[in-house]
Amino acid sequence: MRPLIAGNWKMNGTIAALDEILTVAKNVTGDPPCDVLICTPFTLIARAAMVTGGRIAIGGQDCHREPSGAFTGDVSAEMLADVGASAAIVGHSERRRYHGETDTDVAMKACAAWRAGLFAIICIGESGDEHDAGRAAEIVARQLDASLPLGAGPATAAIAYEPVWAIGTGRTPRAEEIITIHELIRRRLTERLGKDGLDLRILYGGSLKPANAASILRLPNVNGALVGAASLRADEFLSIIRALPRN
Ligand code: PEP
Repeated sequence: MRPLIAGNWKMNGTIAALDEILTVAKNVTGDPPCDVLICTPFTLIARAAMVTGGRIAIGGQDCHREPSGAFTGDVSAEMLADVGASAAIVGHSERRRYHGETDTDVAMKACAAWRAGLFAIICIGESGDEHDAGRAAEIVARQLDASLPLGAGPATAAIAYEPVWAIGTGRTPRAEEIITIHELIRRRLTERLGKDGLDLRILYGGSLKPANAASILRLPNVNGALVGAASLRADEFLSIIRALPRN
């Protein structure tokens, strides 16, 4: 399976930061070991898509469920596609937390992304309290079942397992914990999607950095990563790409 390394810039980056994206694009030409995607703020998508010229994919970090309408401040999947995005993150824990997005909202957003021809990265993951209470598997299973709509397949979606307590904290789960949760996600995907469930990529996200990338990216059923802070600098993001195991 070809891995996917996706960056999530969150609410960071102005036009000056396009240099970082250009550096990434210039360095992944030839035969990169994975698909590369950077999800920028909405304001940078058009320019980022233009400067990279298809050498890497550019995506958004959210999309509205409707194609257009009276939704002040929102952006539709069609609008993302219109300016050159080929993917959107949906259901990031920061959207779930600060914007009250539910699993149902997330599933509708994934459908909206597909309607516009975008690849959807669907995020799930337990909170710190849920983790400490030993409920990670239960929460992840519930979120996966409710956030992944019918019609998902390897060409249209990836699941990002992002334990909320690991995002931006410098903490990561133990290898056994990542293995267990990714195995659970794989099992449920194959139960629902058959062979497609075997091929759908499962990304790990949460404080992935050049220093821990090699050890996490080689774990079973880890088919790439969703990277926050370490995607903002081209050198760090490229180090993560280079840390992928070579077959
Ligand atoms: C994220 O927000 O998707 C993420 C993985 O952030 P970080 O890598 O900074 O923990």
